[in-house]
Amino acid sequence: TVRTRIAPSPTGDPHVGTAYIALFNLCFARQHGGQFILRIEDTDQVRSTPESEQMILDSLHWLGLEWDEGPDVGGPHGPYRQSERGEIYAQHVQQLLDAGHAFKCYRTSEELDDLREARKAAGMHLALKSADLALDESELARRRQENWPFVVRMNVPAEGVCVVNDMLRGTIEVDWAQVDAQILLKSDGMPTYHLANVVDDHLMGITHVLRGEEWINSAPKHQLLYEYFDWEMPVLCHMPLLRNPDKSKLSKRKNPTSINYYRRMGFLPQAVTNYLGRMGWSMPDEREKFSLSEMIADFDVTRVSLGGPVFDLEKLTWLNGVYIREDLDDDALLKALREWAFNEAYVKQILPQLRPRVETLSEVMPLAGHFFAGQPALTKHSFDSVKLDEEELVKLLQFLVWRFEGVSAWDKEALLDEVKTLAEHFELKMKVFLAPVFIAITGSTSSTSVMDAMAILGSDITRARLRGAID
Ligand code: ATP
Ligand code: GLU
Repeated sequence: TVRTRIAPSPTGDPHVGTAYIALFNLCFARQHGGQFILRIEDTDQVRSTPESEQMILDSLHWLGLEWDEGPDVGGPHGPYRQSERGEIYAQHVQQLLDAGHAFKCYRTSEELDDLREARKAAGMHLALKSADLALDESELARRRQENWPFVVRMNVPAEGVCVVNDMLRGTIEVDWAQVDAQILLKSDGMPTYHLANVVDDHLMGITHVLRGEEWINSAPKHQLLYEYFDWEMPVLCHMPLLRNPDKSKLSKRKNPTSINYYRRMGFLPQAVTNYLGRMGWSMPDEREKFSLSEMIADFDVTRVSLGGPVFDLEKLTWLNGVYIREDLDDDALLKALREWAFNEAYVKQILPQLRPRVETLSEVMPLAGHFFAGQPALTKHSFDSVKLDEEELVKLLQFLVWRFEGVSAWDKEALLDEVKTLAEHFELKMKVFLAPVFIAITGSTSSTSVMDAMAILGSDITRARLRGAID
C-alpha cells in the first residue's frame, strides 16, 4: 500500500511550505487508499524546540491535514520523533562501517578548511572524498588512540554519473565528482538528516516521497544509501517551491510564511488549504474553489506543474472572502468568529495587558483592538509626535525588521535584547526609540505595552506592521 509522509524539522514557526507539502502527500496517499505519516526530524538539537513541534502539529490539525501515524497519535512504526531513535541510527551506521560503505573521519575543521582552500586554488571541485580525507596510518592510529572526536562519513564514487528518477522531472543526472563524502553521524553521535531520513523512510514503509525541490541535491546520496543497505528506494517527487509574487522563493523577508500569521489574521482553514491546493495544481475543470475531499477525489500528481507557484496574499484573501460569503451561514460565521476572537489561549495572553488599564469592560475593545486587527491605518501624520526626522525613522524601523528576522525564539526577552542593541546603535533613549515602533504596531500613541504586544502578536504580524509603516 502507498505510504507517504511529511517530515518537518521543528526549528521555528510552522511554515506554509510545510502545509503545502503535507497537503500533496496527504492527497496522494488518500487517493491511493494509503496512509499518511507525520515524523518529526529533530536531529538538530540546538535549533529544535518542543514549542515549535507543538505549533507545527497544531497548525496542520487546524488546516484539517490529518495523519494516520505520528508522535501525537502513535502507530506501529514509532517512535515518530528522530531524537528518540538514536539506537536505531547507531545500529545502521555500524552496519555501513562493517560493510566498508562508511568510514570514521578524524579530520579537524581547520584541516577541512585547508583541504578545501587547496582545491579551490587548484580549480578543482570542492567535494571531498574518502581518499582526500585519509590520514597516514600512524597519524590515524594516534588520533584513535587519543580518542579524538570523529564523524562517520559515507563513501561516494569519485567519478561517473548518478541517475535519479523523479515522478515529475524524469531522470536527473548528477556528477559524482561534485558529491561530498557525506557526514552520516556527527561527532556528538547524532545522525545527519540524510542518514536518519533514509533509515526512517525505509523502516516506516514509506513508498513515495513528495518533498520540496530544495532536496533534489540530496537524492543521489540517498539513492546510494538505499543501495548500500540493499533496500528498495521510495519513488521520489520533488515539488516546485512556493514563490513570492516577484517570483523569488517565498521567504519571510517579503511575505508572511508562518501559518500562525494566517490563523491570527482570521483566514479560514478551509480557504488556506484550498489555496495551497492551487499551488502548481488545478482541478480538471480549473475551478478555483474546492474542498479537501474534492481535491483528494480528483487528485493526480502528474498534473503538478513545475513552473514556480506564486503564493499571493491578495488571491488568498479573495478566496477567503468567497468562503465567508458562500459557505458560512450566520451560525457558521458566528462560530468561526467566536473561535477566532474569543480564542481562550490568545485572549488570556492579552488580559494582563488590559487589567491595569481599564475601568469598564467597554474600554477593552478600543484599547485592545490592535490585537484583533490587520495593518493599522497609518497616515503621514501618524508619526507627527515622534522626534526623529523621516529618514532616521525609516532607517530605524527597517533595521528593526532585519534584526527581528533573525530571532528564532520569539519572546519578550529576546525582543528586548534586539531593541536595546539597536537603540544603543542609534544612540537613542529607549523611550525615543520605541515611540515610532509603538505607533507602527498599535496604530496609536496610547495603548498597551508595545513590547508585550509584539511578543503576543508574533514574528510575522510584527514584521508585517513594521514593514507597513515604512511603505
Ligand atoms: P525563509 O527563507 O523564509 O527563512 P526557510 O527556507 O528558512 O524560509 P525553513 O525554516 O528552512 O524556512 O523551512 C521550513 C520548512 O518550510 C521546510 O520544510 C522547507 O522545506 C519549507 N519551505 C521553506 N520555504 C519554502 C518554499 N518557498 N516553498 C515550499 N516549502 C518551503
Ligand atoms: N526535515 C526535512 C524538512 O524539514 C525533510 C525533507 C524531506 O522531506 O526529505 O523539510
